[in-house]
Amino acid sequence: MKDRMRKLAQNKENIEGIYNYCDRWCERCTFTARCLNYASSKDAPGDGPELWDYLHNVFEATMLMLDEKMERMGIDPQEIKNMGLPQEYDPKDHPLYMKVYELSTVIHNWLVENNTGDATNVFEVLSENKRNDSRYNEAIEVIYFYNFFISAKIYRALMGMDEDEEKEIQTDSNGSAKIALIAVDRLIAAWSVAMERLPDHEDEILRFLIILSEIRKQTELTFPNAQKFVRPGFDSLAGG
Ligand code: SF4
Repeated sequence: MKDRMRKLAQNKENIEGIYNYCDRWCERCTFTARCLNYASSKDAPGDGPELWDYLHNVFEATMLMLDEKMERMGIDPQEIKNMGLPQEYDPKDHPLYMKVYELSTVIHNWLVENNTGDATNVFEVLSENKRNDSRYNEAIEVIYFYNFFISAKIYRALMGMDEDEEKEIQTDSNGSAKIALIAVDRLIAAWSVAMERLPDHEDEILRFLIILSEIRKQTELTFPNAQKFVRPGFDSLAGG
């Protein structure tokens, strides 16, 4: 085992630390051949990253719709930024974390309530008569995968937040916030796909979308340098 690990670690193609700011969804990653974490833990063949291109397009269209809706509803994402924080705090008490965690819990319960089968099998969720709709099934899979992922990453980002480093970009806090933002974007796109297929649930899903959009804006305000963070491999090499 040790020898195998040493051999894997010696692969010159490995990108150092790439697994620190990825989404850990190896089956859809373009860098499996250059990731020590993948090499040491997975052998599964990939489904490919094409889904992310599709969801990115859906995300852009959905955000236009959500921005308009939020403006009409008078929602101000700046609100959380303006709340101010005590000198010492537990990230769990931060309004951004509390909001993300609460939404993840509400969504989880919603998925369980609307589940027609085994909650651990995403293909059973709401999809009894939609098994042949691969986009729908992928969207539900994305929702399951990222639902609690974002609160874990926001927690880590808030934990590392340091006023002295406010102008620095390559910090763990910015890297964690960036991958959380990427996951939020994919969740927004996935819910948008689901909303189209579930007209009876449109109001509930629209509520999730609006809160996700608020979370997205509030994360960007809380971590203004997050989008500039360069993730090893994914952002530093073309095609990531
Ligand atoms: S970089 Fe890619 S292969 Fe490595 S752990 Fe992250 S998702 Fe998996």
